[in-house]
This record gives sequence, structure tokens and C-alpha cells, in this order.
Amino acid sequence: MPQYLRYLLLFIGLLLVPNLSMAAHPHATPHCLSLDASDPARREALMNHVCFLSATPGTPGHSAESPVELPADIDWTPAGGHDLVFSHTDSVYWVRLNVWNSGDTRELWYLKLNYPLLDEVTFWRSGEQADQPLTTGDQYPFLSRGIDYRYFLFPVTLDAGESQTITLRIQSSGALNVPLSLETPAAAIAESNHLTLIHGLFYGALLVFAVFNLLLYFSSGTGYYFYNAFYMASLGLFLFAMGGFANQYFWPDSTGFANTSIPILMSVSCLAMTLFGRSFLEIPANAVADKVLKGLALTSTGLFIMAFLLPYNKSIVLSTTAALIIIGGLFIIGIIRWRQGYLPAKWYVMAWSGMLAGALIYSMAAFGYLADFLAREIFMQAAVGAQVILLNYAMVQRWRLLNRKLLNVEQNARTELELKVHERTAQLRSTMRELEKANRQLATLSLNDALTGLYNRRHLDNLLPELCAEARRTGHPLTIALLDADHFKAVNDSWGHEFGDQCLQHIADILRRHVKRPRDVAIRFGGEEFAILLPGTTSEGAFGVCQGILEDIADLPVLSDDGTPVTLTMSAGTATLLNGEDERELFRRADEALYLAKASGRNRTVHSEPEVS
Ligand code: GH3
Ligand code: MG
Ligand code: MG
Repeated sequence: MPQYLRYLLLFIGLLLVPNLSMAAHPHATPHCLSLDASDPARREALMNHVCFLSATPGTPGHSAESPVELPADIDWTPAGGHDLVFSHTDSVYWVRLNVWNSGDTRELWYLKLNYPLLDEVTFWRSGEQADQPLTTGDQYPFLSRGIDYRYFLFPVTLDAGESQTITLRIQSSGALNVPLSLETPAAAIAESNHLTLIHGLFYGALLVFAVFNLLLYFSSGTGYYFYNAFYMASLGLFLFAMGGFANQYFWPDSTGFANTSIPILMSVSCLAMTLFGRSFLEIPANAVADKVLKGLALTSTGLFIMAFLLPYNKSIVLSTTAALIIIGGLFIIGIIRWRQGYLPAKWYVMAWSGMLAGALIYSMAAFGYLADFLAREIFMQAAVGAQVILLNYAMVQRWRLLNRKLLNVEQNARTELELKVHERTAQLRSTMRELEKANRQLATLSLNDALTGLYNRRHLDNLLPELCAEARRTGHPLTIALLDADHFKAVNDSWGHEFGDQCLQHIADILRRHVKRPRDVAIRFGGEEFAILLPGTTSEGAFGVCQGILEDIADLPVLSDDGTPVTLTMSAGTATLLNGEDERELFRRADEALYLAKASGRNRTVHSEPEVS
């Protein structure tokens, strides 16, 4: 059990002990001593002067309608300084007070009965007004009170030195609380003002909270705001009725409803607190607690109906018992939810333990088991006020918890998204790398000759203009050699096309072997036609390279399928770039030189000499 709960129980215990003992009425003095109304200290000790008679049904006091009908030998009981508080009873209570004015002027005092829920109260004064009793109570229209005040105020006017006997006859189907005080008009007004301020603050705050929660409900659609508003409104209305305000302001003329309204509003409050608890504590559907709460809600509804059907003294006991059970039940369920780890339940339990204490004491006071109803009413209001603040705080906590959950979800979603983006980016990057590689391969493929692996015509077309431009810029020589296989048609014709291809690969191998410098390039640009680009190489250098190639080709025969060595030869034409010449001109001159090599007997290299003009 949490520490504060222990303190709370101790506190309730301390409140109960002295009050329970006050309910007993010792038989001290046999007389109802007269009270000097002009002495404030005597007025304070009013209950030392008050006597009462409890007339059970069947006794003469029960049937008597006025003080004169009371038997002369009546045995009045002195109140002995204690408030007159009796639980539900069939008896008629008579209260007697002798007063006199020791001052020298005519004065007015009020005998005040501080409990609004009495069915019938009749007030007599001996003396000149003896024949005009004042009958009021909540079975009469509110106007019958004479003074527009929620408690009963009876005027006591005394001439200088005058004595009067005041008699009250009280009958009620509810608890019979008769807290009395004798006050000057000034004191009565002052007290009324203070109480009005306290009540105004209390009901005002409750109303504001209820409206605020209702607005929250309309803007957010969250059920528990509605239930909270419903709960505060119904509890406020119930206390309003208990305090006599509802009778004064809401239904001053509906004499029967003053009583009936109490169990009605109590059952509505029970329903509201059950629904609020169920929604606030987020009880899982089908849990035992959920079934219990549904049962309690049904019970509250049943009590609501019963309030219209049963007599007041039955329905009030039923609904008060049910209310205490429901408050206790909600308290236990709150503790269970707290122990299950539902954090807002902690605040709910704290709010509810105040409510439990308040309700217990309040109902005991209302049933006449505790003295001083007024103080209990203030205590109940303090308990409800604290509870309302705690419950609203609990809702803020609940909201925070929900928010944190949402933030977590959002955070997780964001992290997941970031991870996914990261993953996708990595995938994209690797795809791009593969694509680049494929592109490079494609580019290589498109610039290479499939049969020999040498560069192809396209590469020649790309590279030659660049090399010419570079040579012009740097002034370095650039030589191109064109090589063509001799009588290759005959090789094909005699040995077949496949063998021809082998020969072309053989030629390519030899070309590769001789074209060794990093910037030199060997190209197959036609069927059996090859080119060599030699940047930074003079005609002599090119001649050397071509001769080396031609010699190797002539010296290394290709073996045919049947083992016959087939000797090939090639012819070459070279040209070196001249000033002001472009790549087409250079190529043409090399081609001419090749033609000359063919024409002059093949298997040789001819260099294109610049034309002397
Ligand atoms: P020349 O000495 O005058 O150059 O005589 P040639 O027979 O080599 O001349 P021509 O240009 O008339 O013939 C070229 C032959 O090369 C024709 C063709 O059968 C052959 N040829 C061209 N491309 C290929 C090829 O890719 N593979 C094979 N096997 N033969 C080819
Ligand atoms: Mg040819
Ligand atoms: Mg040829």
C-alpha cells in the first residue's frame, strides 16, 4: 500500500472517532435553561439550552400538530451541548428553546437551522405571535421560508426583558439533522457571504472544468473528455441539490422533487463516474474489470429508475450504498490498473482516494451519524475540488503519455524510412556502377574488331583527326601506315574462308607484337586491310616498323588443316603528316603509297614522298 494511502486512512480515522462519540446524548440536566439572547457567549453555547423530544409513532407527541397539543408532563431531553443529528427515523422531533432579552431595547435574532433537506419544519413562538406558526421545509414551496435563503432562518424578536418559548416541530423522510445556531442579523449575513463565496468558487470551478472538458471533447472527439464533463456536471448538480441550492434556484415550486432529486442525481453521478473511470483507465474490453464496470453502470441506471418508483427513504439508502460501492470499486480497479503499469492510473487512484474519504464522511454526516453537516459539506467540496484537479492533471499525464507514444512511433517510422532510403541509395549506386561498366564494355566493343581484337574503323575515324591536330600543335611528326594482305582472295579461294579468318588473326598477332609503344595503335579497318597510327614517328621509323611486320609475315607461314604451311605476304604504304594537311589528305597519300607497293610487285613498303610542286 502506498505511503500516502496509509496517511489518508489515518486521517479519516481521526475525523471519525471524536464525531461518532458526539452522536450520543447524555441526560445531564432535566431542565431547558433559558438563554440570554443578548449575550454572545450564551448564544455560542446554544445547544446547552436546547431540549428535544423524539416522538415515536403512536405516542401523543407524534400526532400533536401544535405545542398546545403536547402533553403537559412531557420529558424533554437536553441536547447537552451537542448538535441534534439523527439518522432516518419515523419519529416526529420537537425542539424547545427558552430565550429572553436582558438588554434594554427590542432586538432581532435569527434561529438558523443549517440543514436544507428537511421535509417539514414548523416554528412557533410563545407571546404575541403564538397563533401564527411558520411552516416550511422542502415539501413546501421555497417561498414558505419567508427569507430567501437555502437554510431555514426563523426571526426571533424580543422586547427589552421579554422571555419567549420557541418550539420547532420537525419531520422528514430523510436523515434528521437539526444543526441550530442563534445569530444576530449581521452575523447571519456575514456568514452567508463567506459561504456564498466558497460555494461560488467551488461550483464555478466545477462548471468551468465541465465546459472545458466538453469543448475538448468536441474538438478532439476523445470519449473520456465527455465522460469527465458529464461526471463533473452531475456531481456538481448533486452537491448543489444536497446544499439546498437546487431547491432554491432550480425547482423552488416543485415540492415533491426536492427529495426525489437527490437519489436521481446520485445515480446519474454514479453512472457518470463509472463511465469516466472505464474510459480513463482504458480497461481492456472483456477484462473482468470491464464486466464489473458494465455491471455498475447497469446498477446506476437501475437506481435512476428506482428513484422515481421507491419512496425517498428507501431509494436514498439504496443509492448511497451503491455510490459507496461504486466509488470503492473504481478505487480498487484504479489500483489494479496502476499495478498493471498503466501510468495515469496513479493519479486517478490519488484523486479517487480523496473522493472515497469525502464520500464516506459526507454520507455519514448526511445520514446523521456525524455532527456538523456544514463542516462535512466544506470537507466534501475540498475533496471533490482536489479530485477534480487531480483528475484533470491525470488527463494531462495521459495525454502526455499518448503523445510520447505517438512521437516514438513517428521516430521509428522516420528511422525506418532513413534506413530504406540509405538501402535504396546504395542499390542505386551499385546499379549505376554496373551500368557504367556495361557502358565501358559497350564502348570498347564498339571500338574493337570482333575477329582480331584490334581497333576498328570507328576508332580510326575518331582518333586520326585528334592525332593530326595534336601533331600540328606540338610539331611532332605523325606517320600512318596502311597494310593490305597480298592476293588474299586466292587464299580464301584455295583454303576456305575460315582459314582466311585464321590468317587475319595471325596477321593481327604480328601487328600487336610490332606495335609496342604506348601511343601506337593497330587497326583493322577493312577485310584484309590494316592501319597503324604512329604519333611522334618519322617516315624512317615507320618504314622500320612496316618492314619488321612484312618480314615476320613472310617468314611465319600459317598451317592449314592438313598441315600445309601457307605463306602470306603483305604490302604497306606510309605517309607522314605535312604542314597544312588534314587527315583525309594524309590517308589518301598513304593509300596511294600502298597502291604503288602493290603495283611494284607486292611484299614491300612504299613511303609517300611529298609532291614537289
Ligand atoms: P591484292 O593483292 O591486290 O590485294 O589482291 P587481293 O586478292 O588481296 O585483293 P582483293 O581486295 O580483290 O580481295 C580481298 C579479299 O579478301 C576478298 C575477300 O575474299 C577477302 N576478305 C575480305 N575480308 C575477309 C574476311 O574477313 N575474312 C576472310 N576470310 N576473307 C576476307
Ligand atoms: Mg584489299
Ligand atoms: Mg589484298
